[in-house]
Amino acid sequence: MTISSIPDVQPPHFAPRRKTALIIGSGIGGLALGIRLQSLGFDTTMLERLDAPGGRALQRRANGYVFDMGPTVITVPQFIEELFALERDRAHLSEPDFPGAMLAIQPGQRTEYGPHTKKYVELVPISPFYRIYFDDKTYFDYDGDPVSTRAQIKALAPDDLQGYEDFHRDAGAIFQRGFLELGYTHFGDVTSMLRAVPDLMKLDAVRTLFSFTSKYFTSPKMRQVFSFETLLIGGNPLSVPAIYSMIHFVEKTWGIHYAMGGTGALVRAFVRKFEELGGVIQYSAGVEELIVAKEGRQKVVQGVKLEGGDERRADIVVSNGDWANLYLKRVPRAMRRINSDTRLKLAPQSMSLLVIYFGFRDDPARPLDLRHHNIILGPRYEELLREIFGQKVLSPDFSQYLHVPTITDPSLAPAGHHAAYTLVPVPNNASGLDWAVQGPKLVQRVLDFLSERGYIPDLNSRLTHLDYVTPDYFEQTLDSHLGNAFGPEPVLAQSAYFRPHNRSEDLARLYLVGAGAQPGAGTPSVMMSAKMTARLIAEDFGIHPEIVK
Ligand SMILES: Cc1cc2nc3c(=O)[nH]c(=O)nc-3n(C[C@H](O)[C@H](O)[C@H](O)COP(=O)(O)OP(=O)(O)OC[C@H]3O[C@@H](n4cnc5c(N)ncnc54)[C@H](O)[C@@H]3O)c2cc1C
Repeated sequence: MTISSIPDVQPPHFAPRRKTALIIGSGIGGLALGIRLQSLGFDTTMLERLDAPGGRALQRRANGYVFDMGPTVITVPQFIEELFALERDRAHLSEPDFPGAMLAIQPGQRTEYGPHTKKYVELVPISPFYRIYFDDKTYFDYDGDPVSTRAQIKALAPDDLQGYEDFHRDAGAIFQRGFLELGYTHFGDVTSMLRAVPDLMKLDAVRTLFSFTSKYFTSPKMRQVFSFETLLIGGNPLSVPAIYSMIHFVEKTWGIHYAMGGTGALVRAFVRKFEELGGVIQYSAGVEELIVAKEGRQKVVQGVKLEGGDERRADIVVSNGDWANLYLKRVPRAMRRINSDTRLKLAPQSMSLLVIYFGFRDDPARPLDLRHHNIILGPRYEELLREIFGQKVLSPDFSQYLHVPTITDPSLAPAGHHAAYTLVPVPNNASGLDWAVQGPKLVQRVLDFLSERGYIPDLNSRLTHLDYVTPDYFEQTLDSHLGNAFGPEPVLAQSAYFRPHNRSEDLARLYLVGAGAQPGAGTPSVMMSAKMTARLIAEDFGIHPEIVK
């Protein structure tokens, strides 16, 4: 296929000039869009402030350990396959296209598809998806298999067996409509939103997830098992709409995967693919502000000014960085109407995180009894969520997600050792907490807890590496407004049409991609966001509108 270019001012005997794109940031969304833009025929340069790619998915090495700093749970491997299948200047948006080629994986089945992915990175399925520990140390191994799920509900909360069947049916209907059918809808105008609303109301998908879950389950444990997943994308189960119950089905349908070598290996694979298609990445290239000019009645982005003062011009600019800070810091106030200071300052931001990265000696006498992904719930659920998201205070107790990738991939640690991280949801920096004081104290409390409760006995004496990040890392290093870890909070008032648009509402030739745009945070969502943004760009540049489905 060729690309139908938009009219060019050059004389006809010259080949039309190739269109150019700048992407600010090399998060997974930025990389996915870079690959797509190279495929659409743009010459793309990615400008990354840090000295390495990945954004939240940065990987760090220390003391012989390898730590993924962010995402660890990889879902919907088809999205990854689509990217590795793209070719330069083919103007394909996907191959194979979504959702027709999405094959459901049977529980426990190793995924045999992904021929393009295999050339770049090895993805392996993880089972169980999560071991979910309750405060009384009973646990639920969630693996997406209805048979084992029923057996575990029977053991822990037999009265909820019928509720599970009903939940399964109704959440499945939400997944069908909200993900398979509407997943790629860019809600750019109210009409597109209004068209979807009646169905979502009928499916009861707009009430809060926790109240939706509570309709089906009476046991507090089951209510937690079937609602905690939104925390992995920054959503409070007490306030996100029930449409997010689809996450449960996304995991169940296509499994949970791990990239051998860590998520960093997937990031490096995306960089390789982007560069093979002719894209260029520049590191230590922070963008200070956008260059905006008035063209008639339109305000048009023409390029960017870098922190060192250099300027770069391009036909389009795409921001993969934080939504609020894009407009608050990089676009003059007079150039913004929809993304006004008032909107940006009032918009609730997602929670933040304390993430502790640690390496420790294995103890053959006491082999680890953990799984690759462990959710360790504290004694309180709803109250804790209210304190983190609403009151924004540091609670006396905590819940955590403990990741031990060396259970699957020993290459991440020296022989006889494990690499791990544990992630504790905490309020974002609207709290005013002083993390220089609170950080070390909370780290010690969490390590003591893991040791004393027997998750990793004697952890303190077995540690050979320890470091951590607090909300200040998200605010200062990743330039996230108020240190949010997942972008604007995914409440109903910031979902679909009400979430920042992928084609800027204020400036022509400016686009957004990643967690701050539609559809939202999480690695599958930011890859969807890249496809949605690529479609908008293709539309704007008249590139094969017939394949822009
Ligand atoms: C600890 C943690 C664990 C997570 N776990 C999971 C998980 O298991 N599964 C899952 O699906 N999701 C998970 N998530 C969410 C997921 O990681 C994110 O939603 C996703 O990676 C965000 O990608 P993004 O494309 O929006 O960009 P980001 O990762 O936010 O990257 C943006 C990039 O832009 C750069 N940048 C910003 N401003 C500028 C500027 N002015 N100039 C130049 N560069 C700039 C930044 O340096 C950064 O590299 C997790 C997140 C965190 C923090």
